[in-house]
Amino acid sequence: MSSDSELRDLYQEVILDHNKRPRNFRVMEDANHRADGHNPLCGDRVTVFVRLAGDRIEDVSFQGSGCAISKASASLMTDSVKGQSLGDVDTLFQGFQLMVTSAPDTDVETDSLGKLAVLAGVREFPSRVKCASLAWHALRAALKDSSQVAAIVSTE
Ligand code: ZN
Repeated sequence: MSSDSELRDLYQEVILDHNKRPRNFRVMEDANHRADGHNPLCGDRVTVFVRLAGDRIEDVSFQGSGCAISKASASLMTDSVKGQSLGDVDTLFQGFQLMVTSAPDTDVETDSLGKLAVLAGVREFPSRVKCASLAWHALRAALKDSSQVAAIVSTE
């Protein structure tokens, strides 16, 4: 098992990588759900595109501009939810929210979160929690929206 500081460096590296080379960073022309998210505190903007087939996320992508945390989080999110059922996505979201909003000195279960666990560090920086959750809120808004009209979600 690595030391805490080694783990932190590793996590940092994953976040930097996803910021520099975001996965699924594109407009999806045939999306059947989408939503725009805005975090006015930091200026992050994200549009999440989803192609939902029945109860499963067949494809997901995002576009936008913002800080490294918001971009890396959106990138990690799309990687994590692609191919998942809505129920699984909901479970991931609940786990993620719990992780980033829990007190820094408490133990939090991250085993089920996979790569998303690299964002656990944001809970030490309350102003960053909204950056990390923005894409998730946009995803949830997109999935709730049954029309193709863009829903707009703001973290404030
Ligand atoms: Zn931000």
